Amino acid sequence: MPIRMDYKRKNRYKVMSRHEVTDSGCQKRMDEPRPEIVDVARKELQEEAESFHEVIERKEQEKQLLESMNTRPFWHYCEVCGKKEYITAEQAFNNGWDYPPHIGVFGVLSQRTCGDCPITSTLWFRMMQKKREETFDASALTPEEVRFVERVKGEPASLLEEELVDAK
Ligand SMILES: [Zn+2]
Repeated sequence: MPIRMDYKRKNRYKVMSRHEVTDSGCQKRMDEPRPEIVDVARKELQEEAESFHEVIERKEQEKQLLESMNTRPFWHYCEVCGKKEYITAEQAFNNGWDYPPHIGVFGVLSQRTCGDCPITSTLWFRMMQKKREETFDASALTPEEVRFVERVKGEPASLLEEELVDAK
């Protein structure tokens, strides 16, 4: 099986180590740095470092957002009755909401209900009722349920701004 080699890394390797076979044997030989390779490699390394920095920064922002969800108010949407409230997680918990971060996990499908609605009416409960061998038919979802799933997938960011439903 042929080994696929990253072309760019192959070039970088060439710069670092070259061997020359002479009468006295095999010797390591260093050429003058070739700018067309060295500069490219340097630029690549710099870009790698930058994208690494961006990833770290994004992770840090996600962490801060997640932490802020413990104290800041955000939108709570009941998937059953459609009620919505802009409250903190603590207020929601005290009012009986089943909502992350106290109940469930942001971004993971489970129930999202107000204090008045039963868990048995939720999409998650319906999915749990399915037998293992049965597949859940996603095309049978109502537009409200599709919006609910999309909102959960986008949590917690999807809960910061009020969701305005198109008037039809
Ligand atoms: Zn409700």
